[in-house]
Amino acid sequence: MDAVRMHAASPESTAIVDAVLDYSRRRMLATDVPLDKPQTPAELKRLLGGATITDGGLGASRALSVFEHILAPACLTTSHPQYLSFIPAAPTMAAMAFDLVVSASGLYGGSWLEGAGAVHAENEVLSFLAAEFGLPETAGGVFVQGGTIGNLSALVAARETAKAKRLAAGQELPARWKIVCSVEAHSSNKSAAKVMDADVLLVPAGPDGALRADGVREALREHGDEICAVVATGGSTNFGIVDDIAGIAALKDEFDFWLHIDGAYGLTAMLAPATRPLFDGVGRADSVIVDPHKWLFAPFDCCALIYRDPENGRRAHTQHAEYLDTLTEGDDFSPSDYSIQLTRRPRGLPLWFSLATYGVEAYRTAVGETIELTKRIAEEIASRPELTLVRDPQLSVVVFERNGWERADYDRWSAELLDSQHAFVVPSSHAGRPNTRFAILNPLTTVEDLVAILDTMK
Ligand SMILES: *Cc1c(COP(=O)(O)O)cnc(C)c1O
Repeated sequence: MDAVRMHAASPESTAIVDAVLDYSRRRMLATDVPLDKPQTPAELKRLLGGATITDGGLGASRALSVFEHILAPACLTTSHPQYLSFIPAAPTMAAMAFDLVVSASGLYGGSWLEGAGAVHAENEVLSFLAAEFGLPETAGGVFVQGGTIGNLSALVAARETAKAKRLAAGQELPARWKIVCSVEAHSSNKSAAKVMDADVLLVPAGPDGALRADGVREALREHGDEICAVVATGGSTNFGIVDDIAGIAALKDEFDFWLHIDGAYGLTAMLAPATRPLFDGVGRADSVIVDPHKWLFAPFDCCALIYRDPENGRRAHTQHAEYLDTLTEGDDFSPSDYSIQLTRRPRGLPLWFSLATYGVEAYRTAVGETIELTKRIAEEIASRPELTLVRDPQLSVVVFERNGWERADYDRWSAELLDSQHAFVVPSSHAGRPNTRFAILNPLTTVEDLVAILDTMK
């Protein structure tokens, strides 16, 4: 009896499911969700007062109570409208709620055989995104855990494709491959190069933070034979600045190279008519990524990885094993073949459900409004004598300095904001100077909220 107790339907199971759904329901619908804040390991130990994992189990109601009253309050609510650091999350109600369904249904998203319906829905989302980005109808890919894995998977596909091309042409392979990106590119690109045992060729950005075609051309001229990919950033994480993608993409007329667009944070802004022109040239990319867990309002963790020619992804990533033969011998579309992962939950489904529920226009409006809000608060910052804008924002990140403040002043201010549960805004820096930044993408964040935070810097 004990062997099936944890799995079978029973009055106990009903009580557990009810309690968890009730908690989830309260949390999702609450209008006063706290920002909360971390605790030290010692404080958490003290609050818990002993082990939570015991031979006999605590029972669901005690375990849930420990989570609700001790563990959850020690986690920042990244979807809080006053959470403005790093890159916030802001899942829609539909996406959040549907994430429960993904766990509830025994869905497996790695192969067509096992998850056809889920994979079909995910692929419709990927095709929708590909069309928004100007990629051909044949483009496709897979939802992976995050931008780091997305970039790595794309860059491995780029290298495998370059390798196959060189070998087919009877050329020698370089001792080490090179990946070109901006000095302002996201750290995950450097991490990918490290995993691939490749070198990063860092090209300086212009004073506005954007990578331009000239620097990339120079790199291609000098090291073309060793370069397996050029990465352009569609919205830098620090500043929300978009590289000169059109100029870089046009280099494809002069050189043969794989263009990868790291749009983890910013590519979503292609959905808003006002910012779409910044991304001209994305349609020529060989691969792109965008993180729906950032600005496409999906819950963690979710990155859309899209290849212009999915075959390049499949050739690079399909795993072969006897027990998988039945999957890999056919020509079904299996998501696991397109990235560095095998087992996967269909993590694109919450986004699918949300897009299906609300429609695309609601997304365009929500994204456009955060960009407008960012403009307004940048103007407010520029108008205050005690503040200096570090750069004019292009998307929804605004970086600014409080004149005369040292790092310690920002630290004190930031800690006070969180202690008082007013806001989560951490210090940052640029070119060795301390500053702070608002990353705005939650549609519930208001201009009044942001002005009130600026008022604390007087
Ligand atoms: C966030 C981000 C990444 C990394 O994505 P994760 O989902 O955090 O792994 C990569 N590139 C850019 C531009 C990003 O903003």
